[in-house]
Amino acid sequence: MPVERKHCQCQDTQGHFLQRAFDNLKLEPAQRELLLAPFRETTISIPLRVHQQGREVLHTFSGYRVQHNHARGPFKGGLRFHPGVNLGETRALARLMTWKSALVDVPFGGAKGGIALDPKTLGADALEVLTKRFTQKMVPLLGVHQDIPAPDIGTNPQVMAWILEEYSKAHGYTPGVVTGKPLELGGSAGRLEATGYGVACVIRKVASEMSRPIEGARVVVQGFGNVGSHVAQSLARMGACIIALSDYRGGVAAESGIDVSAAVRHVAEAEWLEGLAGTEPISNAELLELPCDFLIPAALEATINCDNASAIRAAVVVEAANIPVTYTADATLRDRGIVIIPDILANAGGVLTSYYEWVQNLQEFPWDRETVLHRLEQRLLRVYEQVRDLARSHRVDLRTAAYDLAIGRVAKAITLRGF
Ligand code: NAD
Repeated sequence: MPVERKHCQCQDTQGHFLQRAFDNLKLEPAQRELLLAPFRETTISIPLRVHQQGREVLHTFSGYRVQHNHARGPFKGGLRFHPGVNLGETRALARLMTWKSALVDVPFGGAKGGIALDPKTLGADALEVLTKRFTQKMVPLLGVHQDIPAPDIGTNPQVMAWILEEYSKAHGYTPGVVTGKPLELGGSAGRLEATGYGVACVIRKVASEMSRPIEGARVVVQGFGNVGSHVAQSLARMGACIIALSDYRGGVAAESGIDVSAAVRHVAEAEWLEGLAGTEPISNAELLELPCDFLIPAALEATINCDNASAIRAAVVVEAANIPVTYTADATLRDRGIVIIPDILANAGGVLTSYYEWVQNLQEFPWDRETVLHRLEQRLLRVYEQVRDLARSHRVDLRTAAYDLAIGRVAKAITLRGF
């Protein structure tokens, strides 16, 4: 799907889900306006000399940070390095973070940011300079109690370490200003795998409730980055059969199941899944339409849309990525009896563990990995049960219940604070 159309769908989708929640909660027009309005949107230009076809050229990159809402705590949200990053998409993802933080009841608001670039086209030195220049311009907005970035598509603990370094030049050593950092700089044990592990824990719970035991469940995962690779590894450890995986270049499939540990080793050496021993190549479009128990989009927005929703043959779609199912596709899937576990619930293990990391930084007291992952699982499953119970009692789908719960909390905080 063309990038422009994808962005439109992503914003429209958010808008539709929000209007439904606003109506359910009977919010006044002024409250709706306030909930939609971003607190601050920042766009910056970052000039950098880059090597292109053997010569050095000056390129001006565009960087963004949208701080959506801080009624319940400091702004919190990922930083994305991807060619498709723009203000509209960042705005939609920042809002989503506000609802996600509220749903899991952590004391954060919502934000999102990024730079429009393909990080694979820059060397590590250039990426470091670019990240530090981005941070220099964003320093006045950031802070342990102001705004706390984290990794997202195309960024990782190393990028967080560069942000920490640049911020600390102005404010002294401040590990709590970013989460998803390397362990050596105050990162949390378990943060790297937290989002994917959380997705897997929710799937195991749903599987048991649907009498589709996780042992032997047939699973398809699109996207094999931080989230996708850890969902696949966690589910494989729980006994699921991963029948297809993919990345940007395409997918691999094996009817009898893929050795996920071998896939991780293969990608570490070859960069892509392509050519993984014991698998057949498959396109990303074909992969999405494979019959399976759990289909897990873990890459970009609008992956399941009006073009392919009627061809999806999964029993459950689990939104490990943010906004991977458009509004129209959401309706089509539900009409066809396919259960959707919404992003603000499924991938909330990321922000939950970011919260644990922030708490450890504030207390200067690290927790061990077992404690982090145990607390993550307990709390995420409690949230799942709240959403499930609300969905049952109001006879609505899980997304509607999750949005109603989250937006109600943000609206209440706004009223109490007298925004
Ligand atoms: P990542 O950059 O680590 O991985 C992205 C993966 O998607 C890569 O394997 C890439 O090759 C693949 N990909 C990119 N374009 C694709 C395409 N067109 N078709 C198929 N595959 C494609 O990113 P990530 O951190 O794993 O994030 C993935 C999703 O999860 C995003 O929507 C992100 O916002 C969301 N998310 C991430 C976190 C986190 O903690 N990292 C937390 C919550 C939500």
